[in-house]
Amino acid sequence: MISTNPFLIFQSMTLQSKSKLQNKNVKLPVIEQIFPPNTDEGEFCPTCMSHIRGSKVPTLAVCHRFKYLEQPECLGALNDLEERLVSLRIFGISPHKLTGR
Ligand SMILES: [Zn+2]
Repeated sequence: MISTNPFLIFQSMTLQSKSKLQNKNVKLPVIEQIFPPNTDEGEFCPTCMSHIRGSKVPTLAVCHRFKYLEQPECLGALNDLEERLVSLRIFGISPHKLTGR
């Protein structure tokens, strides 16, 4: 996903451009689909980059009608910790089901 997300900042996002992806042998139709119109560069998370490197359009792509909702004003005032506490998902943490004996 391109980092227009007003809610989260991914530290491992990488800045990519259309020409940079072409140099990495990503197919042109894929490149054309992952960038919004009139946009030549954007930041992508590791999950999206793994799809792109495999010449696949990420699930969370603009061409799949993915877009962020408008940020509610009350969320704009949160600090990093508060933001994590109210997040639906905390990235980098995988929940595991515990098995009882
Ligand atoms: Zn992504």
